[in-house]
Amino acid sequence: MNSDILIIGGGMAGCGAAYEARYWGRNLSVVIVEKAHIERSGAVAMGLSAINCYMGMRWNENTPEDFVRYTRNDLMGLVREDLEFDIARHVDSTVHLFEEWGLPIIYDNETGRYKREGKWQILIHGESYKPIVAEAATKAASKIYNRIMITHLVADEHNPNRVAGAVGFNVRDGSFYIFRAKAVIVASGGATHIFRPRSVGEGAGRTWYAPWSTGSAYALLLGIGAEMTQMENKLVVTRFKDGYGPVGAWFLALKAVATNAYGENYEQKYIDEQRALYGNYVDSKPFPTCLRNDALLREIKAGRHPIYIHTERVLDTREKEELGHEDFLDMTMSQTIVWASQNIDPKKKPSELQTSEPYIMGSHATCSGAWASGPQDISPADYFWGYNRMTTVNGLFGAGDTIGGSAHKFSSGSFTEGRLAAKAAVKYVRDHPELPEISEKSLAELRQEVFLPIANYSSGRNLIVKGTVSPLYLYADQFVVRLEKLMDEYVGGWGPMYTTNEILLNRGLELMTMLREDLRHIAAENLHQLQRAWELYHRVLTAEAVLRHTIFRKETRWPGYCYRADYPKLDDENWHLFVNSKFDQSTGKWQLFTKPCLQLVP
Ligand SMILES: Cc1cc2nc3c(=O)[nH]c(=O)nc-3n(C[C@H](O)[C@H](O)[C@H](O)COP(=O)(O)OP(=O)(O)OC[C@H]3O[C@@H](n4cnc5c(N)ncnc54)[C@H](O)[C@@H]3O)c2cc1C
Repeated sequence: MNSDILIIGGGMAGCGAAYEARYWGRNLSVVIVEKAHIERSGAVAMGLSAINCYMGMRWNENTPEDFVRYTRNDLMGLVREDLEFDIARHVDSTVHLFEEWGLPIIYDNETGRYKREGKWQILIHGESYKPIVAEAATKAASKIYNRIMITHLVADEHNPNRVAGAVGFNVRDGSFYIFRAKAVIVASGGATHIFRPRSVGEGAGRTWYAPWSTGSAYALLLGIGAEMTQMENKLVVTRFKDGYGPVGAWFLALKAVATNAYGENYEQKYIDEQRALYGNYVDSKPFPTCLRNDALLREIKAGRHPIYIHTERVLDTREKEELGHEDFLDMTMSQTIVWASQNIDPKKKPSELQTSEPYIMGSHATCSGAWASGPQDISPADYFWGYNRMTTVNGLFGAGDTIGGSAHKFSSGSFTEGRLAAKAAVKYVRDHPELPEISEKSLAELRQEVFLPIANYSSGRNLIVKGTVSPLYLYADQFVVRLEKLMDEYVGGWGPMYTTNEILLNRGLELMTMLREDLRHIAAENLHQLQRAWELYHRVLTAEAVLRHTIFRKETRWPGYCYRADYPKLDDENWHLFVNSKFDQSTGKWQLFTKPCLQLVP
């Protein structure tokens, strides 16, 4: 399939990219390829109850500079301010488009403005958020290929640092697909199930961030040699226990409070200890998210848990009760099911809060992902190389969870970043109108590699004497628990309270190397398992990047997300820097190095 612009992943960023590519590239062929179906794919699949990134500039509510200051403080000093500013100055127009397309945004009857959940968030009736956004992308795209999982990006035959397209397979009929394109935008989401989840048994698929976010964005980019940043910046979220229900509407709109088991407010209790370890970031307003986690974890370590969120104190009107229930029904239905099944009436009983397993993402409260060029008008020389949101590989762009260094984009910011990347990709295609070439030899090798798990199954199954265990292979679900256990125990999952040290990390790396060797022996009995196998490959490469970055950063920058017990302090003198990496697929070697973190907004 040949196209001008290929968009990998039709989630929020992918849909934004398709919309904007059509606007600037009227006559270009714009193709989306999506492993699920774009109508209900990605992290917004279930719907959302709030848009978390909206400035409200037409009402003078916030400025892009305010947003940069907020994200800088929340990320303990480390954000790409050019990228944050660029999102902030454009995001309102995205939200206005959503409303025009039919997304019901809730208004405040008194002010006549959008009803705020918090300073940056607005409330929506968002069950159908994704289908509404996907409809606009469907109208804009030349063609959408649903149910195709992209396994590899492919480089130009004559220039290894120029992307030429991608390959993958149809998860329903097994056809092998080759996509050639002049520019590629990767928008394939974040990564879950890298660390052992809290959920167990038949509930083990349940995570807060979407379980179908499988690290493709990072692994596809690493595989072609793109530079990554902040892969050590894991996200741990505090959520309603067992259902992973988000807390935003409860804390911000309904003003619920959290206490320890004995009814005590604990959040500011550790401020002196926190200041001694993490410096003046503790005085930031609002209090950084990771430090709130840190206070909660200190309470748990002291044995004063469970931590409660007091829903019963705030549901005193019908309107508030509806808001509380709809918050979950629009976004995380499982939380209301947990309430029902555990006899919790939120009007009468508080709910328990718990910290999640770590996730990797570039769009939420952390900023792992690709190192990308910023916009020409504001990015300093260190952050600009020709095209906005282009990675260090020519013609390869990213958006949403894919792009590192710029947290707090959320759904609206991810769509906006897709738009920014697409506008630049159109310019790239106009400047480079030739279709890159892919060698037949490399395609033949890739085809063989993609279907290797099926071949492994065909030959290995004959050695099964009883049950499903073959001495020649492992299944993806067996590998994933091995990966999760390794990451949890050695790289700071919830088991050891997010704590690790160099000795643990180095042992983790040895085990990871063995795991990667064993991946050659993964088996798939059918296409469903083949998809699971490739999701696992992507998770493993992402996990290795996380591990190596965690070894490299010798400080505790984001307590509450990860603690380096051997370097318990935040060290601005030596580590007010981005940690970047590159992987060479042909040699298996990694390079880790630093890049400056520049302050652009006073
Ligand atoms: C429970 C939950 C609550 C949230 N709450 C809010 C909120 O209240 N407000 C808010 O604004 N944001 C919220 N977010 C965040 C928001 O959903 C994300 O920031 C946003 O969806 C990220 O956009 P993206 O395009 O990068 O990724 P996604 O939207 O996840 O899109 C990635 C797409 O890539 C596809 N894909 C992945 N791998 C491949 C592959 N190999 N080949 C082909 N396709 C692939 C996926 O199927 C998916 O469609 C929430 C997210 C979750 C999970």
